[in-house]
Amino acid sequence: MSELSTLILERIRDVPDYPKPGVLFKDITPLLADPVAMAAVVDELAGLHQADKIVGIEARGFILAAPVAYRAAAGFVPVRKKGKLPAATLEESYDLEYGSATIEVHRDAFTPGDRVLIVDDVLATGGTAKATVELVERAGAQVIGIAVLMELGFLKGRERLTGVDLHSLVIV
Ligand code: AMP
Repeated sequence: MSELSTLILERIRDVPDYPKPGVLFKDITPLLADPVAMAAVVDELAGLHQADKIVGIEARGFILAAPVAYRAAAGFVPVRKKGKLPAATLEESYDLEYGSATIEVHRDAFTPGDRVLIVDDVLATGGTAKATVELVERAGAQVIGIAVLMELGFLKGRERLTGVDLHSLVIV
């Protein structure tokens, strides 16, 4: 295992039964609080692709995507839950285990053809990431990759993202 993987695994805390019974929540706050680990993660993510824009998925994705954008000298674009962005938006809905969710991006967030890297903390079922890919493409940009800190391999989210370059710093 690489030094970076160890650094990450030691700083992501498992919280059982949060936010509901049966879910093992991956809490990244210990990693965020460690400047050495955080810098290593941001540098690694920023070096993956030559992107014009880094998209962060609300909310924990923002915390990682914004410093990655700064480090990569790229722009930062937020993808938010419905109703949070002030100007004209495009929206995409997707199914959750119970019910559905809708995410949005500003219609003018991208210059046509922008090369976009999508960043989030955890890839679980892949539903959020897939909806984000569709949203970014509908907004006229090109998704060159998805990067996450941690992929929950047993949920097989990767299988929903065929054709997209998915990079996970650790897979559990
Ligand atoms: P999914 O759409 O199922 O891939 O879920 C991904 C989103 O939910 C990400 O934005 C994650 O932050 C969050 N998420 C899902 N499962 C977990 C988990 N076990 N621990 C922490 N975050 C999670």
